[in-house]
Amino acid sequence: MLNWLVEEKGIAPHIPVFDKSKRDDGTFSRSDFRYDPTSDVYHCPSGKQLGTSGTVHEGKTLLYRASKLDCQVCPLKPQCCPKEPSRKIPRDIHEHAPDVARSFVGTEGFETSRRQRKKIEMRFAHLKRILRLGRLRLRGPRGAQDEFVLAAIAQNLRRLASLVARPPPAQALCVA
Ligand code: SF4
Repeated sequence: MLNWLVEEKGIAPHIPVFDKSKRDDGTFSRSDFRYDPTSDVYHCPSGKQLGTSGTVHEGKTLLYRASKLDCQVCPLKPQCCPKEPSRKIPRDIHEHAPDVARSFVGTEGFETSRRQRKKIEMRFAHLKRILRLGRLRLRGPRGAQDEFVLAAIAQNLRRLASLVARPPPAQALCVA
């Protein structure tokens, strides 16, 4: 989906992307390696290059491998690949799209989108919890569309009522 947004639609994705490659055993994560899109290599913390043969594994992953000769003599090896002869970094063939998404994190546009998205997500939460739209009752895309439109109308009417409704003026007490 992210790849479709970036590559096919040319949309700047203001979407938080979690990095699942982060390691928690004290060794270097993929984010400690810098990817160079021009020469299609990773640069490791020791300044060496990790290249790929171009073979796609499991239909979606490229492996970037460091040279065994480099790793054998590297002082950072215990923090990098203590149990392997050399380090390898897996990279999804569509990793460019998450990279583009991550590059927007912290920008003014990203923060604005985040604030506006919160408002929309609150509406969806309201639809699910208060208007009981957690499950659709009509079938098919048309049914879903009709149900959402009706629910949105109901939601907007509720909001409108809460914005314009005023309590009736207090009745003056008649004292005979
Ligand atoms: S062990 Fe290999 S990949 Fe890791 S920092 Fe050293 S040279 Fe680079």
